[in-house]
Amino acid sequence: MPDKSFLSAVLLRANPCEEYKMRIEQDLKLGFKDVLIRPKRSTLKSRSQVDLNRQFTFKHSGKTWTGVPIIAANMDSVASFEMATSLAQHNIMTAVHKHYSVEQWGEFVANQSPDVLQHVMVSSGTSDADFIKLSEILALSDALNFICIDIANGYSEHLVDYVRKVRQAHPMKVISAGNVVTGDMVEELIIAGADIVKVGIGPGSVCTTRVKTGVGYPQLSAIIECADAAHGLGGQIIGDGGCSCAGDVAKAFGGGADFVMLGGMLAGHEQSGGEIIEQDGKKLVKFYGMSSQSAMDKHSGGVAKYRAAEGKTVLLPFKGNVDNTVNDIMGGVRSTCTYVGAASLKELTKRTTFIRVQEQENNVYGKE
Ligand code: 5GP
Repeated sequence: MPDKSFLSAVLLRANPCEEYKMRIEQDLKLGFKDVLIRPKRSTLKSRSQVDLNRQFTFKHSGKTWTGVPIIAANMDSVASFEMATSLAQHNIMTAVHKHYSVEQWGEFVANQSPDVLQHVMVSSGTSDADFIKLSEILALSDALNFICIDIANGYSEHLVDYVRKVRQAHPMKVISAGNVVTGDMVEELIIAGADIVKVGIGPGSVCTTRVKTGVGYPQLSAIIECADAAHGLGGQIIGDGGCSCAGDVAKAFGGGADFVMLGGMLAGHEQSGGEIIEQDGKKLVKFYGMSSQSAMDKHSGGVAKYRAAEGKTVLLPFKGNVDNTVNDIMGGVRSTCTYVGAASLKELTKRTTFIRVQEQENNVYGKE
């Protein structure tokens, strides 16, 4: 009779995976559609009493900024120079997309008041050419204070090295970097020099990452967990992607997002920069993900053989001036604040209790 250890060695050789234990996190992670915000007793009489401006002092740069912490996403059918000019009137930021040339930036900067430029983020990829271009753009005006370093997979060591390099070259600029969805990586990016970490993998309206790769994290849980990690180190986060209505924006703030970044909700407007198409007498606007076939055809000469497009192209009904949409979003968030008794946006997180639900709006007469 062979002894027990001999038998288990034979079994292991027959099935080398036998000892491997699959890791499954059992905690249910939540998206915006899984919760509502519970109303609370409030002394506020009117939405007009609610202040949506917040003031931040950033960890590394030491810069202070006051404004409404919503950001137009760095997509070329959303965050144009025209969008930046319009949103600055509402104290809202625009992460201007990275496909303008330095010359185009030069013209924009020469025409704008410093007040508009203080609401602008300069977007950058992580290549050597991106680094040179970023430095050339920043040199155009001292009022350009924000950098948005953005790659789809923020877990790459390359991003951490790039953040370190940009921090060294621009110690006084506010650096945001991403995208990630877990606290460990938030901490690593902040330690490397990021003031703000951008959070979101897969929730975007024209994103197909979850379908193409199976990777992702429900956005509300990502925000809650990443905000906790960032705040512990004196950093901030941007909740990026997945907001389809003002209520989602309020939930993102309620979950702890310092800033909320919007793509689809700000696409399709006069200022969005998307191509306008007439179909059956209706005006439609092209909106696409920055990793979609459309974006890669336009900016990279097509989709490289080794990769798949991870974004969609859609046609949106033309939505007119972005001012109306912005007023609607800000009105919604102000109203959230009155429902929970928060006199300012800063208080919203503290006053938020989420309830898990299995229903959202009543769609009997169609969707809002
Ligand atoms: P939205 O507000 O439209 O739901 O999400 C906007 C965010 O979607 C952007 O800020 C960006 O993080 C993400 N995004 C934009 N284009 C793409 C894409 O082609 N693929 C993926 N995976 N995400 C995208």
